[in-house]
Amino acid sequence: MAMVAQAGAGETAARQNLNTQVTPMPEIFRAARVAPMTPGWPLLEDAAVVVHGQTILDVGSFAHMRRTHAGPVRDLGELTLAPAAFNSHTHLEMTHLLGRTTSGQGFVAWIRSLLANDLYSLHEPLVRQELARQESRGCAFLADISTRNAPRLAGLLAESGLFFTSFQEAIGNGLPDDPATLLHRVEAVAESGRGTCAVAGHALYSSSPELLCEAKAVSRAQGLPFSLHLAEHEDEDAILLTGKSAFLELLRERGFITGYDAPGKRPVPLAADLGLLDERTLCVHCVTVTDEDIALIAKSRASVCLCPRSNEYIGVGQAPLGALLDAGVNLCLGTDGLCSNADLDPFAELAWLAGRNPGALSLGQGLALITANPARFFGLEDTLGSLAPGRQARFSVLPRAVLDAFSDG
Ligand SMILES: [Zn+2]
Repeated sequence: MAMVAQAGAGETAARQNLNTQVTPMPEIFRAARVAPMTPGWPLLEDAAVVVHGQTILDVGSFAHMRRTHAGPVRDLGELTLAPAAFNSHTHLEMTHLLGRTTSGQGFVAWIRSLLANDLYSLHEPLVRQELARQESRGCAFLADISTRNAPRLAGLLAESGLFFTSFQEAIGNGLPDDPATLLHRVEAVAESGRGTCAVAGHALYSSSPELLCEAKAVSRAQGLPFSLHLAEHEDEDAILLTGKSAFLELLRERGFITGYDAPGKRPVPLAADLGLLDERTLCVHCVTVTDEDIALIAKSRASVCLCPRSNEYIGVGQAPLGALLDAGVNLCLGTDGLCSNADLDPFAELAWLAGRNPGALSLGQGLALITANPARFFGLEDTLGSLAPGRQARFSVLPRAVLDAFSDG
């Protein structure tokens, strides 16, 4: 059965129409507009997607699909169908912290408020509810970062209907005797056929260079994606350049670090020098990057995940969207966790980004941040992220907020 979902409440009837029954023959889903997200294909008007079981057979104009395929037609009406979305960065572990952190006063104030909570007491019913909500709204994939609960979260993700990467975060100074233990292994993940367990580094100031290099080495040896918070806030620059910052004091106070020798480099050049940047690395945030930093990222072929509403919530500024686009960096979009955002909805994230940067992105470029680009990074381009023959029949219906945000673009 085709997986079709959307955020717009006015489209409920269409969704019910889509999910009524499974038929043994192909079905033709017609919509006023279809965004296939395949290279060279613009938004198609009066178009159709032909689906058999869980697989897309064909996409094209409705008239052509009707002529070339047998099967019942389901007319979705005045909707825009797109591939189901990717959320490329979140922390499900922090789902219970919605509304419980300080907003808009910078990173140190935010982290202080975060640390006042019971950070890692995973609330499984809330996580299950959140995963179901995102799937029903047209999300197909979620990349989760977990510090303490990666195996349990991997299990919850495997239980859900979503595709996923479950990153276990390497943080602190300690190096495990066996580096392979940096990677969690959960049988249910392999059994689900929809997920991968992987390793992430927290950040250059909170994880030792040795630990980050080991985490990247394990990822490389296993052919896995690697994720790293990079250049998120000015304190990060200050810590790495001079070793002097309020944030570093806080980490010392809390016992997260003891001594600290500032490497005297900016985040991106340091990550490059450590060998952490390559085409399997996702650099998360990249707010404080310079033109030289962006050129280094582009040269390394690493991808960048923007989390604009999280940056706004915390009050650290915004990544230079135009410069990253101009440099040809593969850009993805993530919500970050509910400790720094109002929801985990990639469409809401995209609508906010487009609204904040009028004219910077076409609708196709914007949708790519939550479809084709992350599909490429996570190695799922033959499965998700575009509407093309052979891909999974997982659609979204573009919410009005996204269409409105691009109406002037
Ligand atoms: Zn994060």
